[in-house]
Amino acid sequence: MPLTPDRLDNVERVIQAAPIGICVTDAQGRFERVNPTYCEFYGYREEELIGQPFTLVVPEANRPILQALHDRFIAGEDDEELAQEWEVHGKDGELRNILARAARIVDNQGAVKKVTFVVDITERKRMEQRLEFLARHDELTGLLNRRAGLALLEEEIARSRRYSTPLAIAACDLDHFKRINDRHGHAAGDNVLREAAMRMRRALRQHDHLVRTGGEEFLVILPGISLAEGWQAMERLRLALSATPLEAPPLTLTLSAGVAELAPGEDSDALMERADRALYGAKEAGRNRVLEAAQPVMGKATKSG
Ligand code: GH3
Ligand code: MG
Ligand code: MG
Repeated sequence: MPLTPDRLDNVERVIQAAPIGICVTDAQGRFERVNPTYCEFYGYREEELIGQPFTLVVPEANRPILQALHDRFIAGEDDEELAQEWEVHGKDGELRNILARAARIVDNQGAVKKVTFVVDITERKRMEQRLEFLARHDELTGLLNRRAGLALLEEEIARSRRYSTPLAIAACDLDHFKRINDRHGHAAGDNVLREAAMRMRRALRQHDHLVRTGGEEFLVILPGISLAEGWQAMERLRLALSATPLEAPPLTLTLSAGVAELAPGEDSDALMERADRALYGAKEAGRNRVLEAAQPVMGKATKSG
């Protein structure tokens, strides 16, 4: 419809032209007005929305709470709704993120309505989630990065102490990785690392943690697991890696690992040091093997002790 002055007063024109989505809902939460930006964002035509409950555009699980919030708002229990982020979906069903701010209005007949202003923040949200992921994960393999892994280790140590459950860790290093790079190139080496990470992840239980601590070095955190069980778990992982040769580049990949179980009073540095020393022993002994760490030396269990 043309925006002729006789059809729409200036306020109408502003609403129609606004680059922000605007909708008016009645006391029950049914769409009474929607502007073009609102329709465009959700992918509905105006006539498809008018008269429908506004919960049409929110995921089913959130409908009761959003309807309740709408009722409170109409009843004047929330004076002015804060700007809030919500997950919504358009006609195509795809989830989007919005920032919504609302105002209460009263029409000439005294009926209370809600005006909601909607901004599309889907892209910003995606970017935030990506940054959050990258802060905790390694981009090449998607595994936890060193910083996140060490923080997790501290948490698991605290949990092990609190509930008196065992905790094992393993330091792992891929064997002769330099050769792989030298023979097949760095890009092929990257692919090998990705494949190795995938195979290792699959060989572990759901609540074990796999961390890429450095180049071709990994830390495995095994909550609730003793030294002997940890050795078995790592042996399984070692075999999962080496049993089937890789296809591209064609080679058999092996790893060496050192397993240690948290000792009473031991801190993360001392525990990691024992696992590292066992890893070093595995390399010395010819690689492609898992060794158990020595018991902690009395009095050396903690930094202060
Ligand atoms: P060892 O059995 O003693 O562990 O032998 P190694 O050749 O694996 O020795 P080392 O651990 O010293 O060398 C690791 C090599 O891994 C060095 C480096 O070129 C390579 N590397 C580290 N990070 C990456 C990476 O992200 N991508 C690729 N392609 N190579 C990496
Ligand atoms: Mg190394
Ligand atoms: Mg290595």
